[in-house]
Amino acid sequence: MSNWSHRHILDLATFSIEDYTNVLELAKRFKAVSTSGTRKLPALQGRLITTLFFEPSTRTRSSFELAAKRLSADVQSFSPNNSSLSKGETPIDTALTYVAMGADVLIVRHSSTNVPGELAHYLEEAGHNTSILNGGDGLHSHPSQGLLDLFTLANFFSPNEPIPSAVKDKTIVIVGDILHSRVARSNLWALTACGANVVLCGPPTLLPEEFKDFVKAPPPGQKLDPIKKRGQVTIMRSLKDAFQEADAVMTLRLQIERMHQNLITDLYQYHCEFGINHESLKWCKKDVPVLHPGPVNRGIEMSNAILEDDSICLVSEQVNNGIPVRMALLYLLAAKEN
Ligand code: ASP
Repeated sequence: MSNWSHRHILDLATFSIEDYTNVLELAKRFKAVSTSGTRKLPALQGRLITTLFFEPSTRTRSSFELAAKRLSADVQSFSPNNSSLSKGETPIDTALTYVAMGADVLIVRHSSTNVPGELAHYLEEAGHNTSILNGGDGLHSHPSQGLLDLFTLANFFSPNEPIPSAVKDKTIVIVGDILHSRVARSNLWALTACGANVVLCGPPTLLPEEFKDFVKAPPPGQKLDPIKKRGQVTIMRSLKDAFQEADAVMTLRLQIERMHQNLITDLYQYHCEFGINHESLKWCKKDVPVLHPGPVNRGIEMSNAILEDDSICLVSEQVNNGIPVRMALLYLLAAKEN
């Protein structure tokens, strides 16, 4: 792959158009292999991929593990229950244990922002070569989800050529609990980089006005934005207004576990205002696709009927695309010297 410069994958704010192109191009190729008779490739034979998930996960963890196996890597998984965390071991010492066993990539998920970044920094300072791949940290970032959402949208708009510019000038409406969503943040970096315009829609308690400036400056610690011109970010409070222009709709889970005060008074009322159902989708153009990173609270973020409507609901497609996208990321990190 041309010009891959990332030793770790922590945040999409650092991604250039070339990076997105590399990931989408590889994902397209791996997807073709996954659907062929072959399925498995020898690309990472002898490499060790470890999933270090300090926070629960269904999709991300099993998708990374399957991606690693499809590339013939050895896979180890750590889970906090039954681990030495209960004996007082820190995340750094836990990581060092797997580094000592020879892990080439640690995929790290943690409920606190920047734990993967701190681990990456610590390992570099200590002279270790292991790469860190952020599997979701606090409210901050979920790069593999942002990339699989981009790949899913690029495939939807341009099935033969799912490249970054497939989303250019499209309007993607992201609905719901933006404040607590690392998925929304990663999608904001990815989609605006590729020239999409993002409309954020939700109540003020879950969508503060500051989000309209989210991609205007790189995050603290990063000097430059690698993207010259990003798409626009706007905020709308009414689903009806937001849906008028939508080319795709992404709705997000209410992250109740991260809400430290009552930010939603009534879930039924929330569904009436911001829930996606066949009624509210009438405000959109015809056949606009609906995405959700999962897990879904049925009947709150979206109705059962939408979730089961394969003609517009891309949730299973997102899960399916997660495998080739994560194969691409593991390949770029662990086969980097080839
Ligand atoms: N699975 C996604 C995440 O880990 C979205 C969610 O949990 O709502 O951030």
